[in-house]
Amino acid sequence: MRDKKLEKIKDEVLVCQKCTLYKDRIYPVIGEGNHRAKIMFVGEAPGLNESKTGRPFCGASGKILNELLDSVNLKREDVYISNLLKDRPPKNRDPKIEEINACFGYLERQIKIINPKVICTLGRYSMQFLMQQFGLEKEIQPIGRIHGQVFQSKQLFKGLEIVSLYHPAVAVYNANMKSVLIKDFQVLKNFK
Ligand code: URA
Repeated sequence: MRDKKLEKIKDEVLVCQKCTLYKDRIYPVIGEGNHRAKIMFVGEAPGLNESKTGRPFCGASGKILNELLDSVNLKREDVYISNLLKDRPPKNRDPKIEEINACFGYLERQIKIINPKVICTLGRYSMQFLMQQFGLEKEIQPIGRIHGQVFQSKQLFKGLEIVSLYHPAVAVYNANMKSVLIKDFQVLKNFK
């Protein structure tokens, strides 16, 4: 049943024209992983590699994400990975709020179907948008202050836990940030 529902989202996204990003679409990146995952990651938007393959986090940031998962004995098949936006913004520009709003219906359905214990936001866009949706706007602070902290949704999916994590891209050229991420990922052991 879950598989069918997720497949339906895929069919819809493949022909989606809710925002202008479809104009440059190669492949949309719908999300992948365990349909019964306890831990779900939400990144920002596909990059070039992802839009060429239709798979989330398959470039340099993906390599870091794999290492981070490995550090807590998780495999990609254990978790579900999605993004705020299913299509790549041109030249990897920042996502626009109208694009995030237009796309959110798909992510909301993915969360409902998968029903994870925790949502891990990757990067500040995902953190800000989802914390707002979860009625946590008062708790929003710069990611440098609240990375690794666990919050509980007060609104949408009430009680669902949310952890804000740095985007793995920050560690591509900065080993110090990788150790911060490795430390923050430890919290995921509580949700396995
Ligand atoms: N960065 C993201 O936020 N998402 C991806 O899928 C790839 C890179």
